[in-house]
Amino acid sequence: MTVIQFRKRPPVGSGTTTSSSGSSPFGTAAANGEGAFVAPPPGVCAVGIDLGTTNSVVSVYTPGEPEPETLLYDDLQLVPSLLYFDEHLGHEVVGAKAAKVLSEKPATVIRGTKRSMGSIAPSFFSNEQAYSPEDAATYVLKHLASHPVLVQQKELHGGIWAVITVPAHFDDAARRATIQAAARAGIYVLRIVNEPTAAALAYSMLPDVRHTDHETVGVFDFGGGTFDVSLVERQGLVFNVLSSEGDIFLGGDDIDIALADKLLQKVEPVFTAKRTRHDSPLFKKLVTIAEDAKIALEGRGSFSISKSDLDGNGGGVSLNTTVLRDELESVAEPFVGRTLELTERAMHAAKRRAHQVSRILLVGGSTRLSIVRKMLESYFPQSQIDARLEPDLAVSWGAAVQAAIILGIEPDTILVDVCSHSLGIGVADDPNTINQNYKKVARKFGVLHPASDVDLEQILGERIHDFNTELQNTLRVAPIIHRNSPLPARRSEFFNTLYQNQIAVQVVVVQGEQQTVGENRLIGSFLFELEQPCPKGARCEIQLTYDANGMVHVLAKQLETSNEAEAQFDSRTGEVIGWRKLGAQSLDESFHGALSGTGSFSNSLGGSDSNGAEINFDRPDAIPVLNTLIARARRFLTKSLDDTPNRELVASLLDSYEKLLAEAKLGAANDIEIDFVEARLISTLDSADHRAELNADHGAENKAEPHE
Ligand code: ADP
Ligand code: MG
Repeated sequence: MTVIQFRKRPPVGSGTTTSSSGSSPFGTAAANGEGAFVAPPPGVCAVGIDLGTTNSVVSVYTPGEPEPETLLYDDLQLVPSLLYFDEHLGHEVVGAKAAKVLSEKPATVIRGTKRSMGSIAPSFFSNEQAYSPEDAATYVLKHLASHPVLVQQKELHGGIWAVITVPAHFDDAARRATIQAAARAGIYVLRIVNEPTAAALAYSMLPDVRHTDHETVGVFDFGGGTFDVSLVERQGLVFNVLSSEGDIFLGGDDIDIALADKLLQKVEPVFTAKRTRHDSPLFKKLVTIAEDAKIALEGRGSFSISKSDLDGNGGGVSLNTTVLRDELESVAEPFVGRTLELTERAMHAAKRRAHQVSRILLVGGSTRLSIVRKMLESYFPQSQIDARLEPDLAVSWGAAVQAAIILGIEPDTILVDVCSHSLGIGVADDPNTINQNYKKVARKFGVLHPASDVDLEQILGERIHDFNTELQNTLRVAPIIHRNSPLPARRSEFFNTLYQNQIAVQVVVVQGEQQTVGENRLIGSFLFELEQPCPKGARCEIQLTYDANGMVHVLAKQLETSNEAEAQFDSRTGEVIGWRKLGAQSLDESFHGALSGTGSFSNSLGGSDSNGAEINFDRPDAIPVLNTLIARARRFLTKSLDDTPNRELVASLLDSYEKLLAEAKLGAANDIEIDFVEARLISTLDSADHRAELNADHGAENKAEPHE
């Protein structure tokens, strides 16, 4: 078997390029066509959705109001992110109604699905119905979309446009799943924003904050399921996220479970208690009791519990005990300790010391725990521990503000976020390592080494796929974009081929901080065919891009040739969802799948005039190029018929391009987005010309040799 891989080149002088830039997105590149970015019409409301693990909150920003309005569902601002299949009604029940069932029949109510977002397995059950985390999010979002204010948006504008927040530590797959769930619920995602970043924005609305010129704030978001901490530097209304750390498996729920474990030891009869597992209805009941105790203990020193018939079947299982506040604190201690560890890490990454952080913004229900506040006060003795905003509402408020920024309602605020995972590709150092890894894997699969490709397929049959995956997992990771890089980020690295006449390279893209492919999250992989003859050591460039939503795009180039390919993956499955070969001669007509769905890059400034005048701002050598390109695109649109392939794509690219240029003219540092859209516009126009030439050629042939 020919293992085809790269070797990382030693750094060369000008070899590496990094760029990243400012506020405007270059696209809500969706997971596939279904969730594609749709430009909002003028006049839509700025909606922010905090799709929480425990509770979800929707707020709407109205210019001139001191704060966003949080919508009420069943008279509550916090909508429990719970899902229940009602057998009698024959449909799903969400929110407060599902919460009622939770206290009666906890085992039938689905909760905490957000922690596994991005997994496509239908692993959650309610009354025999199975749901994936994405399904559960879809039902919650559908419920949120049913609010009269949002229904009215739909009627007026044909849709709901919203910013949705996710934990900073959500990976690519989880972000895609969120966009997908929104699309299924009839919500267009303006942008995916990290929760702590949104909270920082919300705090910027406080009057005294508006008047502080410069400060570094820490956002400490400790919710039910997840923990995130971000350090944000604010200069006037410009927000720069310096670093972000977190854990999607750390939250108030963990404290509840740990406390429930303690309570279980006091359940009578002991015989039953000993046989109780974490997924049993009895234990789930104990978890809800533990949560009640935890919340009640914030206001007093002890909490008495007296419950009979705990398993709900008259089996005489009971719990009679008193929990002391000290006990709760010792149960919570390790979890709070872990939040401190992550906070220290974020401080280290941001190169800041405690005294340089002026305020700590408290976000998330679990920051109500007094031991959390005590811990923060002792680590940040000079900082203000700021809990002025409702910890449960801050994230959705910030999301609404971000929506207002994108919609041009609140144009002065600028937000630069960072990525929270490194991004890299799998490489092999030399043929020797490849051979050794190959031998190891072959041994594991019971194959005698060496075996030809044909032999291998015959011996392994269906298992060949697992074999290849295992082999791929042994590759070493060469990071390209480092975590905490500002978004959007784009960076290239150069690699060379390992063999004489190597025919292709497997580009394996992973997200995470570990050494080998197998230990990280696979974003996806694709085969990049090389132009022949290809000498050993041929240079290739791999460019990775994190867009403003924190999602990933890949470009591969064989240097000194026109051979290029770009790909987009569905990181939930690792499948290639968009792939195409670029380059002058080798334009591949077969636009695989939904790449065209990503054609609509940002035109996030709704309502601005896109017929704009000539562009002539300060990009000296670039102006003629820009104007020529715009003229060329306009000519294409005037010339082509409505059903011409790529016509819509060109129209939307041109639209985005002109808007980005206009923004740049106003001072936005959006070069990277401009380059991005420009490259796509050129390649789309090239491909259209190429097609036109082919058609013309065919026409000529037909004339010369008419068919009988
Ligand atoms: P999420 O962002 O995960 O949806 P929230 O920010 O809504 O979560 O916080 C929910 C968590 O906050 C739950 O674990 C809940 O038990 C906890 N919580 C709520 N109120 C209190 C309180 N007064 N004291 C301690 N924990 C609380
Ligand atoms: Mg939250």
